[in-house]
Amino acid sequence: MNGLHLPDPGEPRFCARCAAPLEQRNDGGRGRPRCPACGWTYYAKPALGAAVLIEEDGRILLVRRAHEPVRGWWTLPAGYVEYGEVAEETAAREALEETGLVVSIDGLHGIFAGFGDPRGAGHLAVYYATRLSGAPVAGDDAAEVGWFAADEIPAEIAFEGSRKAIAAWLARSGERVREPLLLRYAGAGPAPPVLVHIVIENPAGTTERIVYEEGLNDFRTTGWVFPEPLPFHYGWISHTLAAADDDELDAVVLGEGSAAVGAVLTARPIGALLRSDGDHKVIAVRADVPSVYADVADVRERADIREPIESLFRQISDVAGWVGAAEARAMILSAQRDRLIRDAEAADLRATAAATTGPRSA
Ligand SMILES: [Zn+2]
Repeated sequence: MNGLHLPDPGEPRFCARCAAPLEQRNDGGRGRPRCPACGWTYYAKPALGAAVLIEEDGRILLVRRAHEPVRGWWTLPAGYVEYGEVAEETAAREALEETGLVVSIDGLHGIFAGFGDPRGAGHLAVYYATRLSGAPVAGDDAAEVGWFAADEIPAEIAFEGSRKAIAAWLARSGERVREPLLLRYAGAGPAPPVLVHIVIENPAGTTERIVYEEGLNDFRTTGWVFPEPLPFHYGWISHTLAAADDDELDAVVLGEGSAAVGAVLTARPIGALLRSDGDHKVIAVRADVPSVYADVADVRERADIREPIESLFRQISDVAGWVGAAEARAMILSAQRDRLIRDAEAADLRATAAATTGPRSA
């Protein structure tokens, strides 16, 4: 995976030192914001989280999230590493805060990259831990604590880092990973099956079409103008970008609240508009702000939603029909699986090339 599928939601527009507006500069093949006044450059840094994998009697301890994003979903007990803190300390601290357990840290399970968190990309350092004292009680960010055997892991695991860590534990513990689990965890990438993260190219009210260019890691205008200001946010679902960068899964996001170009919104798919040219549009409702659309479960129930969307896209291509929420989720999972297979094949090719052309030791 070559990264940069997601813009950085923490990227500043003004210099942190002198407050001058920043300019985009090409620096080592990447666009970086740089201050024309004092020379300060912003380097996007992925966040580091730390988690504990506490196993007893073949079961691992998971916590249910009490807050957004992805409230109500399960994760390993985890938190961000604070400045000045060592990751092992963070892992033990989070175990105490979220589960009430005093633990010893016994070694590294692995480091797992995650790209689906709307707060930004990061890595999760997952440590094996052993309970020294205490009984599990949910605290801090956790609404509930539970022990789960390999065949009891819930489908709703928040965040790619936790899903990958659990998938690795399943593989290591000898549990045969079933295809649905592979899709949910390793294969589903950053987007849970029910909630997806959508990168916004055109916020509601936009009239000129803007697109994201992966090679530049930036957005650019196209000169193409919509007949009317967009009545919804328009973007793509992360980790459904193809290598060719032109058949990503597009999404229309309904809901209140503003969004900027490059914003990452959490949304719930409610259906899809199928177009004759194959450039289908997933319809989703915002899950990160209160919305009058919050109760809509399936777009087929709502002609008042379908008609304005259909009339806009009909000007570009004939419409082949509508599918409901379940089919839209299947389209997303399929696109993400295709992306993962392509990434894995590309990694295999790179590894083979490195093995055959690598330097020969004397
Ligand atoms: Zn400056």
